[in-house]
Order: sequence, then structure tokens, then C-alpha cells
Amino acid sequence: AEDIVQLQNIKKHYAGGFWGGQQQTLRAVDGVSLSIRAGETLGLVGESGCGKSTVGQLASLLLPATDGTLVYNGKDITGLSGPRARSMRRHMQYVFQDPYTSLNPRLRIGELLEEPLKINRLGDSRERKRQVDDMLLRIGLDPSYARHYTHQLSGGQRQRIGIARSLMLKPEFLVLDEPVSALDVSVQSQILNLLKDLQRELNLTYLFISHDLNVVHYMSDRVAVMYLGKIVEIAEVEDLYANPLHPYTKALVSAIPSENRREKRERIILKGDMPSPLDIPKGCAFQTRCVHAHERCSTEAPVLTGIREGHFVSCHLYT
Ligand code: SF4
Ligand code: MG
Repeated sequence: AEDIVQLQNIKKHYAGGFWGGQQQTLRAVDGVSLSIRAGETLGLVGESGCGKSTVGQLASLLLPATDGTLVYNGKDITGLSGPRARSMRRHMQYVFQDPYTSLNPRLRIGELLEEPLKINRLGDSRERKRQVDDMLLRIGLDPSYARHYTHQLSGGQRQRIGIARSLMLKPEFLVLDEPVSALDVSVQSQILNLLKDLQRELNLTYLFISHDLNVVHYMSDRVAVMYLGKIVEIAEVEDLYANPLHPYTKALVSAIPSENRREKRERIILKGDMPSPLDIPKGCAFQTRCVHAHERCSTEAPVLTGIREGHFVSCHLYT
């Protein structure tokens, strides 16, 4: 399949405070290259603070990049702003973890879903109402829900509305940022299956962000693993879970409850915490927690390298 979204060495840096008379730089995303293929789900995993939400916001034009190139359907859209960014954003939507905070509580469901159409001056009032009813049915709610408010809904129903709202403008690409993390486990699978059905019916491409490796396994065709602002490994989903290469990925995979793993592996406990993105170690960013760290790791940053078909890793053990 064709690439629909390409991030080429994308960076997002923020100016931090002063420390020892020096301006600090917070490197939230520190040179990420990713290609997302039309129709696939690319999972993006990593612990909180690794920069995965920022990658999602950069990929969907919610945030401008500090450096690098963003390509959408073969077109360079880096730094697009104003009306041209707004019309591009119709194709790319962002679904937030907690629809409670992203949906205006003073609007009825029908108004929430109609709003994107109104803003973009699409259809007359009757046509818009018809599209709202269609969308409610599509996401598994009766059209009578149009008169309700979000506080009258369950968490799962609210996330259905969050997804529905993101689909009103018929986007091609969705960034799903921890879309089920706020939900009970029993409701999670309903929402995940809804997302799978919608993807098939509407030809959607997903960037699926999560810290939950079981959920990512269920949803993804390929998976990218992030650590401190960089991609450390990327592979087809089955290949990544069966043969993780990077020491960080090995630790993440070893922590998945064993009933969901093919073979028993010893649990690898990572020592220490992820360093601050204000203070990323020179050389390999993972060296402070890596049992395989050696001389070269403290001086030379590893680069993402193809080890076999479709499987890339950034670690000196392999190069
Ligand atoms: Fe560990 Fe070195 Fe590989 Fe980094 S480059 S993950 S420190 S072995
Ligand atoms: Mg996040």
C-alpha cells in the first residue's frame, strides 16, 4: 500500500528553563521518521512521557514541528497554517483519550456531531441532521441520542461520540490517542471492535497510540516502540512480539501477562526511570537502564537500521 503519512526526521523541541546560566531544551520528539501506509493500523507504544502523543499531534497538524518534514499523500504539508491547514485537517483527525474533556458538556450530542459540518459550511440543516442520524447508527447508538448531553452517557458511549465527531468530515487518517485507556476492560473490547469495523467500512488509516501492549497487539498491523523522543524499534506486529530486538522492547514484551504470550519468557525488570526529556543522555538515550550498555553506547547514538525485511532497530548490539 501507498504511504498516506510520512514523518521525516520530525522534531519537537521546547525552550525549558535556565539551569546554571544555560537555556535548557526539552526534546519531546527528537528526530522521528515514520511511514504510515494507507489502510493500516500502526501502533505506537512507549511509557508515558516518551513523546508518543506529541508524535500524534505532529502527524495530524495539531502541532507545528520544530524541524523535519511532514508529507501527506505525497504532498509536503510541513508548517501549513491558517485556512490551508484547516482544510487539510479535515482529512486527519485526532481522537483523545478522555472524551469527557474534549466534548463540550453544554452541547447536545446532535449539536456536537453537527458542529464540524457547520464550521465547514457543509450541507443545509436538514442534510446535516440526516448525517448526524446516520453517524449515530454507524457507531451503534439510536438517533434519539442526538437530544442527550454527554453527562447522561456512559464512558463507552462518550467515546463512541468522540469517535463519531472525528468522523463527521469523512477523514482518511485518524490518530487514536489511548482511546480505551479511560474505559473499563469490559467496554474496551467493544470500542476496539467498533474501531476495527469503522476502519474496514470507511477505509481508514490509524495511528494507534497506547501504553497497553495487549491492546496494541490486538489492533495493529505494525508497531513502533518509542523511548525518550525516538523510535527504537519498528516491525510487523507478530514479528515484534515474537522476536523483540531492542533491550527496551524485550523488557516491555516480557512484562505482558504470560497467558497472552506464546512462550514463557523471564520477566525483565528495567532499573531506574526514564530520564527527563530535558536531560537526554549523550549517545544512546536508553543507556542508563540497559544491561547491555557498553563503551560505544555512551559516545555514539545508534540509528534505526533494517535487520531483516520490515524490522528496524536502533541499538549497537546489532550494528
Ligand atoms: Fe543498550 Fe547500547 Fe543498545 Fe542502547 S545502544 S540499547 S545502551 S546496548
Ligand atoms: Mg499521552
